[in-house]
Amino acid sequence: MRPASCRHLILILGDQLDEDSAAFDGLNPAQDVVLMIEAREESTHVWSHKARTVLFLSAMRHFADKLRQRGWWVAYRALDKEGDATLADGLRAALALYRPERVIGVEPGDLRVRGQLDSALASIANLPVPAGTGPPRLLMEWREDRHFMCAPPQFRRWAGQSASLRMEFFYRMMRRQYQVLMDDGQPAGGQWNYDADNRKGFGRTGPQQVPRPLVFEADTITQEVIALVEQQFAAHPGDLQRFNWPVTREQALVALDDFISHRLPHFGTHQDAMWTGLDFGWHALLSSSLNLKLLNPLEVVHAAEQAYRSRGLDLASVEGFIRQVLGWREFIRGVYFLDMPGLKTANHFGHDRPLPAWYWTGETRMNCMHQCISQTLANGYSHHIQRLMVTGMFGVTAQIHPQQLCDWYLAVYVDAVEWVELPNTAGMALFANGGRFTSKPYVASGAYVKRMSNYCNDCHYEPATRTGPRACPMTTLYWNFLDRHETALAANPRTTLMVKHLERMAPQERQLLRAQAQDMLAGLDSL
Ligand code: SF4
Repeated sequence: MRPASCRHLILILGDQLDEDSAAFDGLNPAQDVVLMIEAREESTHVWSHKARTVLFLSAMRHFADKLRQRGWWVAYRALDKEGDATLADGLRAALALYRPERVIGVEPGDLRVRGQLDSALASIANLPVPAGTGPPRLLMEWREDRHFMCAPPQFRRWAGQSASLRMEFFYRMMRRQYQVLMDDGQPAGGQWNYDADNRKGFGRTGPQQVPRPLVFEADTITQEVIALVEQQFAAHPGDLQRFNWPVTREQALVALDDFISHRLPHFGTHQDAMWTGLDFGWHALLSSSLNLKLLNPLEVVHAAEQAYRSRGLDLASVEGFIRQVLGWREFIRGVYFLDMPGLKTANHFGHDRPLPAWYWTGETRMNCMHQCISQTLANGYSHHIQRLMVTGMFGVTAQIHPQQLCDWYLAVYVDAVEWVELPNTAGMALFANGGRFTSKPYVASGAYVKRMSNYCNDCHYEPATRTGPRACPMTTLYWNFLDRHETALAANPRTTLMVKHLERMAPQERQLLRAQAQDMLAGLDSL
């Protein structure tokens, strides 16, 4: 039942679907109202994949139902009813309706959203409040997002004044702090990091005995949201035929159990490998559930460690997975809050070429790009190496403007929220922040793609060829990148060897390479 008066309005954003959220601390369904807003702008400020919008809206609607069952009054502003253009519009309308004394929310994971909501509140600071409560005022209380294991102030203290940050040291601190994979004060197995064991390709035979991912049938709510998105965002990228992401905590827990039982035992071995038609492999497929806060990262980490301790799972697989959640995910969030707003406009190399149109369709003769983008459009997902070493790496060597590629990543992945997307793309994949937390740009030639996938077998181009009509763009543009940045790369111990290979190239060959690269860069859209 709607409370007679509203003391607090509890703002729950689409990626804050956690019943244990600090937003609910000390509040009471008898006096306080939950506000959830489906704002059109959240699907249009970047041209969002339909699956990303369906996931957010369906998960929000399921969460609202759960809160209602718990006795909360949920002021739910739906896209097909209230139709708010922006979150600020929805907030303003709810304030006028409920006239709360205070708005309470958890720190958004996107500073654009925080700025917009703060501005909206500032513009209506004189909203009348109940009589006898003093001068007109409206207070906003942002609470810490305790879903995460390292709060921004702790990360800031850890980072100190360091110009360069290294995840590995942060990760060790987190392992010690949370006593994860620790035995008598030492890392389990005697090593902190088993990444070297986790980089195998599939060989000629390809992937064998791949476990099938779970199927989550679309219920009435999800079906309604799919119809809504098809109608309101018909021209948006991606399709919904294969929409299969958890939309409730219950489904997310089933997905976690399925991963721990069936894919974690072999997660590490081929985590960097790619293969035509292998959309998911042994990957966890938990990032969207974690980022919507349907799962808590510590419960995920504990589930993986428990499987190692009780079932003797392969330590390299378990450690590799835990490093992603306890280490990388927390580290990246710390970097986001530390380095914004500069990270948003970072462009170390001064790249300014527009994103080729085929990033939105997959229609390119480069089979590696075609496969990774088509898979992304079908599922709203590709795994980390496809993002880093195919679509991201091409962005660096093809000199694409970082902001355009960052917006693409934010748009097309179901797990994308700015705190996680931006540092991963701008910092890790594109080196746009000049190596603030990576020791070298992640660039490689077509030989890497050939070694880690079967994509080159069915490609118009030849991976080992750098000039001529069949020259592989990955390869030509890689060598061109080395040529352009030879001095800086020679000075970096991690890339000196790359440049040594360049030195062996005859001057005439270099000229041919440069000419080929210029042709490719001038015609990126037709590759
Ligand atoms: Fe990609 Fe080059 Fe291999 Fe083609 S040949 S799939 S463009 S790496």
